[in-house]
Amino acid sequence: MVRVKAVAPEGLAAELGITTGTELLAIDGRALDDFLDWEFLSADDAFVLLARDPDGTTTEYDIERPEDVAFGIELDPPHVRRCANRCDFCFVDGLPEGLRQNLYIRDDDYRLSFRYGNFATLTNLKARDIARILEYRLSPLYVSVHVTDTVLRRRYLRNPRAPDVMEQLRTFAAGGIRFHTQIVLQPGVNDGPVLERSLTDLYALGDCVLSVSVVPVGLTNFSKLHLVREPTAPECRAAIQIVHRFAERALREREHRWVHGSDDLYLVAEEALPPASWYGEFEQVENGVGSVRFLQQRIAAHAGEFPRLPGARVAVLTGTGMGRLMGQVTAPLAERTGATFEVITLENPLFGSSVTTAALLPGGAFQAALAERSDLALALLPAEAVNDDGRFMDDLPFESLAASVPCEVRLSYDFGDALGTARST
Ligand code: SF4
Repeated sequence: MVRVKAVAPEGLAAELGITTGTELLAIDGRALDDFLDWEFLSADDAFVLLARDPDGTTTEYDIERPEDVAFGIELDPPHVRRCANRCDFCFVDGLPEGLRQNLYIRDDDYRLSFRYGNFATLTNLKARDIARILEYRLSPLYVSVHVTDTVLRRRYLRNPRAPDVMEQLRTFAAGGIRFHTQIVLQPGVNDGPVLERSLTDLYALGDCVLSVSVVPVGLTNFSKLHLVREPTAPECRAAIQIVHRFAERALREREHRWVHGSDDLYLVAEEALPPASWYGEFEQVENGVGSVRFLQQRIAAHAGEFPRLPGARVAVLTGTGMGRLMGQVTAPLAERTGATFEVITLENPLFGSSVTTAALLPGGAFQAALAERSDLALALLPAEAVNDDGRFMDDLPFESLAASVPCEVRLSYDFGDALGTARST
């Protein structure tokens, strides 16, 4: 059963009298378990929908959907599938109270992998899930492979029942499913020859593996620090060498680089990031792969659209990872707009200084940094740091933060989205 959360006034559902709170039970006799069932089974022009109205009445709707008319409903969010693993670097179990609720959920959900690009390990799939992936052709999936050897992967995930991921990928590939994959590197566990083996195995699967990212493990104060450590600069350099070797081979044989190191891998290795052209279609930019080059490319492409802001003082707040590189990004912006850009780099007071990503910064850290900054015309905060409801990690709403500091604040993904309407001082 899936429940209707909202009904659009102009859609077919409103016309049929379907209201908020209606439970959608079945389509053409097939029970609806979640949004996937709804979306795939209601894709036909004509179908019979069995629903239970909020007053308990069961109604059968014989639906013929006119072309170009949306059904017009929003569903309650699905119950997220819980993770069956216990990775040493997972920080969820030790989190303090008072944070955003969804932070406490160790999710591992193939449906969200298909829909939102969340990485899933596929270790909690049941036979029915496998059948659904194949029937609905959920592609591409984002898969946390980490290591292809089953024994090592079970140890890595601390899950003795984790299935053979290569067999899973082969099964899905035979059904036309493709994958973006990631390998989170733990030194001494899945780097070196193990990384080579994993990349060799994934490459041998052929075109169904669309991309691979290699990301150094990031630990927080809540990780099991007695069991796992972050890779050192030489270890990251060694991983980069392996990645580049496979990337060059893929470029020769498949005309794209296929495997990339995340920006963090280069940062820890103290090596320069590759140029933008290296990243092809930036397939895993949301996983921190090529983020800096992507941002620079977008700024260059939209350079003519930035307003002149002579004399304005604009702060850009970010984490310690991006903070080291942000100067490269803001320099052309300053030139273009005439504004002065100040990069404010924040250490993460919640998860510890080893967490460098801006996305995990709590709202309180931004608030403290801006508390006395009435000299700023504008402060730009990373949009990735809030969820869909506009709340930071520590559950602080963006609106509350904006009301509490003496300068204008805006959320921004790429500067163009926030500077467009800025005024000069
Ligand atoms: S896969 Fe590992 S890191 Fe991810 S939620 Fe599960 S235990 Fe945590």
